[in-house]
Amino acid sequence: MNNDLILVAGGGGFIGGHLIADLRRRGFTNIRSVDIKPTDQWYQRFDGGENIVADLTDKQCCDRACDGAREVYNLAADMGGMGFIENNKALCMLSVLVNTHLLQASVDAGVDRYFYASSACVYNADKQMSEDVVALKEEDAYPAMPEDGYGWEKLFAERMCRHFREDFGINTRVARFHNVYGPHGTWEGGREKAPAAIARKVINAWSTNDHHIDIWGDGRQTRSFMYIDDCVKGIDMIMHSNIEEPINLGSNELVTINGLVDMVEEIIGIKLKRSHNLDAPKGVNGRNSDNTLIQKLLGWQPSITLRAGMEETVDWIRGEYMALYGSEPTNDASDLSRVLPHAS
Ligand code: NAD
Repeated sequence: MNNDLILVAGGGGFIGGHLIADLRRRGFTNIRSVDIKPTDQWYQRFDGGENIVADLTDKQCCDRACDGAREVYNLAADMGGMGFIENNKALCMLSVLVNTHLLQASVDAGVDRYFYASSACVYNADKQMSEDVVALKEEDAYPAMPEDGYGWEKLFAERMCRHFREDFGINTRVARFHNVYGPHGTWEGGREKAPAAIARKVINAWSTNDHHIDIWGDGRQTRSFMYIDDCVKGIDMIMHSNIEEPINLGSNELVTINGLVDMVEEIIGIKLKRSHNLDAPKGVNGRNSDNTLIQKLLGWQPSITLRAGMEETVDWIRGEYMALYGSEPTNDASDLSRVLPHAS
């Protein structure tokens, strides 16, 4: 029902913000958004609903957040791109407290449906050794050897969702997101992911006339990236399906990191000299989403092309960058006063 109370945990974050925007577009009026960040740091904030700042690792905060809710979307996690998760394994694992307490609070509050945002980082590393990937099927998570720290937490949390469903009867739904990107997300500061980081670097090179880019790894690593609109649509479809086991939610359009740089260069209209930082965190060599199961069960899979999604994303990041630091290129290559330290 459109006036059922819906809790979005992590509503100040990238995916949470877009989910709330979508729920509102579809006529839902009773949305409680909870995030640990001060509201002025939320990527999107909406009037008319509840916007609450609280730490959801705390059980009492979860009890208050879930009170009266019919559906809970758990999108709250301390996370970021490879640069963050490889260097903050313990912090990533502490997000287990959010899922644990939210699940308990949801059962206590009689919540009907509970969505958990898992990740392709749960997949066994041995299946991701080559750039020449075989796309990952849901069963490839076991035997378990996920991404250290972040991936183990996700796999454990998936398992909790299963057992809370079996033992306490709450309808849990779990999607394994593969690299989500789009506007209104992190694009600088150390938690950003490859699409946003590359967009920012190319924009910085364009704005400062320093036509050079530093790429993490040799650039031959392969990935797929899902545009946020597909992600939000998939969340809704999975949440309201009868799919009880974790399922892939990702694009299967494979690209190398070098190919992604080519694309952003084309969008901006620039060609950069590249250097490859082989010591930087780069994650697995190859990863793609096998969408056989989602196609079979939902008759749908993410389909927005990388090019279309990146055009929107680059446009938004360029606007943010310009508002903060930039100006149009001066065409004066000696003007390095605007080469910014954050943009390395
Ligand atoms: P995000 O960092 O933009 O959003 C997460 C939000 O959770 C942040 O706003 C953060 O402040 C909040 N949060 C963290 N700890 C909290 C706490 N203790 N209490 C309350 N709020 C807390 O990240 P996102 O990209 O929107 O990711 C949402 C979910 O999707 C996460 O669980 C993430 O692991 C998962 N995921 C994302 C991607 C991706 O590519 N973005 C890929 C796989 C999985």
